[in-house]
Amino acid sequence: MSQRELVVLGTASQTPTRHRNHNAYLLRFDGEGLLFDPGEGTQRQLLLAGVAATQITRICVTHFHGDHSLGLAGIIQRLSLDGVTRPVSCYYPASGQVYFDRLRHATSFHERAPLVQVPLAAEGPVPGGPLLMSVRELDHRIDCYGYRVAEPDGRRILPERLAEHGLSGPQVSQVQRAGSITVDGRTVSLEQISEPRRGQVFAFVMDTRLCPGAYELAAGADLLVAESTYLDADRDMAQRFAHLTARQAGQLAAESGVRELVLTHFSQRYPVEESERFREEAAAVFDGPVHVAQDLTRIPLPPR
Ligand SMILES: [Zn+2]
Repeated sequence: MSQRELVVLGTASQTPTRHRNHNAYLLRFDGEGLLFDPGEGTQRQLLLAGVAATQITRICVTHFHGDHSLGLAGIIQRLSLDGVTRPVSCYYPASGQVYFDRLRHATSFHERAPLVQVPLAAEGPVPGGPLLMSVRELDHRIDCYGYRVAEPDGRRILPERLAEHGLSGPQVSQVQRAGSITVDGRTVSLEQISEPRRGQVFAFVMDTRLCPGAYELAAGADLLVAESTYLDADRDMAQRFAHLTARQAGQLAAESGVRELVLTHFSQRYPVEESERFREEAAAVFDGPVHVAQDLTRIPLPPR
């Protein structure tokens, strides 16, 4: 069984606190490890979470504020230190190239790991290997892109249909490979023994006000990670600093047909003991499960 889960490495906005590291998340999706927004301390959080840096296959940066990117310097050097030889793609807003360049070469190190730079200058699909990746502009104080990661749609084999057509074992994989099989002069197609299965969708919406891009990313997602820097009592501040409240994150999830919502990127103004208030606010408008992210926890991608 392939592993599809979100490893929460940090949940603090702006500055780390006693209980929360700077932001960072690793999406484990089959053989891929997508590291999102590595803030300061990400290397150590990986260690504490029991994840090897060599599992990182892509790095996705939404914007160049420190809580989303200061960890890049360490992570990039770590890939070389750990002898990663396959190319690791790094996506980031093109307008932040100057910041990327500084972090990329922050100190002297023995460079071995091949890093592929993918500066983002427009919305739409980005190269993502077998996964379908796309980005949308968000509404923050500097250029900020949210990410959507989708598994290609496939087909689900139906055991009762297999029995009907008398197919089993290697015959099934042959139909999946070739699209059909002929047994005793009878041809059975893949469509006859399966039904369409929509690929799983993961959406990552970081620092932003509610905006069209956020809704496009979240549409029908199985798991939506949304920043909720503030509680709704402070929504004026959220508006001013271009952030979401927990209630707005819940609204985004509800109006987008999301299955499960992860709240994170909390302001230090709220004590960790009050985390439940974030859930309550989002749950008041969103019916699905709401996870209030905690450092070093794992959240499975809900299966289809
Ligand atoms: Zn932030």
